[in-house]
Amino acid sequence: MNQLEIKDLHVNIEGKEILNGVSLQIKRGEVHALMGPNGSGKSTLSFSIMGHPSYKVTKGNVLYEGKDLLDKTVDERAREKIFLAFQYPSSVTGVSVSNFIRAAYLAQNPGASFHDFAKILKENMELLHIDQSFMQRYLNDGFSGGEKKKAEILQLAVLKPKLALLDETDSGLDIDSLRVVAEGVNAVKNQNMSILLVTHYQRILNYIRPDVVHVMYKGKIITSGGSELAEKLEKEGYENIIKAYHEG
Ligand code: ADP
Ligand code: MG
Repeated sequence: MNQLEIKDLHVNIEGKEILNGVSLQIKRGEVHALMGPNGSGKSTLSFSIMGHPSYKVTKGNVLYEGKDLLDKTVDERAREKIFLAFQYPSSVTGVSVSNFIRAAYLAQNPGASFHDFAKILKENMELLHIDQSFMQRYLNDGFSGGEKKKAEILQLAVLKPKLALLDETDSGLDIDSLRVVAEGVNAVKNQNMSILLVTHYQRILNYIRPDVVHVMYKGKIITSGGSELAEKLEKEGYENIIKAYHEG
């Protein structure tokens, strides 16, 4: 079954067309890598699936579990268990990591007790090797790149989405932080979680094996393949694939 099905999606930002005909299908439990040069529209696609109001869909459709997603608000999409880990997470002064995650958890599980939440949080902090002191800090305030990404993965672990959009979860990480984050994703992942892993570089795919790799360029997916496609990109860069696309 398709967890997500995107058909001929066109998206504008401030009147400028950024996505021009994206089609993509992700089955339940699959990991898809979305690669491509900077500025090709990868983040735009992630924001559009999440329902960011600045991104206007002008054509095409998006089905989630077989139902139309585009008429739903961001909140509704989050409650339907879609999660976006941001490329550039914002800091929220005055709100601790712990309180932020609790608010998100309660929004999705309105009947949950404090005890339920505390138990789930503790399990996942252990899984991701996160210290109690980290939880009391203000969200992303003065965090290193690695700490910001860790906070995103902790949210992922606690919220257990059915569709996780991970936008450049690897960017700005040194190799040790990259490994911790990738191992965290692997530990959290299950057969009910589909992942769209947005990445500019192949290296995170050494830790998180994609079922399918897509290359986006100028607002379109120009080619898709298996994990060997990512290896080819690692060796050759995007140039040959873009050239082949132009020669069509
Ligand atoms: P990627 O994530 O692949 O690097 P983006 O989706 O961030 O690409 O950007 C795709 C294109 O959309 C770029 O040309 C970028 O300049 C443009 N763009 C992104 N956000 C905005 C915005 N808020 N306003 C105007 N243009 C934007
Ligand atoms: Mg981006």
